[in-house]
Amino acid sequence: MASNAQVCWNVFLGAFVLLTSAIRQSLPSTVTPPSVTDLLGRSDVQAAFRQAYSDSIWPNGLIQEQGGWIYANRFDATDIVIIRASGGQLALPVASDNLQGNLVVSLLPPALPSSYNYRMVADFHTHPAHTSNGIALPDDPPSLVDIGAIFAGQTPGFVIASEHTWTVGPNSRATMDGPRGYAVTVDALTEANVPQGYAPVLQGWTVSD
Ligand SMILES: [Zn+2]
Repeated sequence: MASNAQVCWNVFLGAFVLLTSAIRQSLPSTVTPPSVTDLLGRSDVQAAFRQAYSDSIWPNGLIQEQGGWIYANRFDATDIVIIRASGGQLALPVASDNLQGNLVVSLLPPALPSSYNYRMVADFHTHPAHTSNGIALPDDPPSLVDIGAIFAGQTPGFVIASEHTWTVGPNSRATMDGPRGYAVTVDALTEANVPQGYAPVLQGWTVSD
């Protein structure tokens, strides 16, 4: 049985750990949020993108959007957590427009890591379309709703298309402080925030590499 002194010491230690953890969480982060280039250069991010795209294409010809969120630690931006969202509904590809509403993956609200120290640094979703489905929509670009939602959240977005990956929005989250999800809380999909003349960037990185 623990002595009173031991119990007292343990309680003190426990309180000290809780207090230092609370103080640490309240301090501004000093790390630089990872950029889209930093994230695209990571093998775990690439593997997650490939897996998401692969999960979007079903052997029976049905497709569904897949996606998720990338989080980084406020105290070590190389410490990354990737969380997948539930996929959209299975749908038949449509030759003229593969983005029928029912196959769209919902990224709102984001699922958060259990640790308070992580902040979302990007989201991602697939635009599944492939010539093996009998349709040709290579590199189906981000929609206006995609772009509007990503700018509203002020957090970079990746759209993983059949041949390449598009990047949308800021080059990185501005700071590793603020809300745990999107840098600015997003309540609903919107086209209202698309900057005039904005065009998403088609990256050289490909899902087939
Ligand atoms: Zn989209």
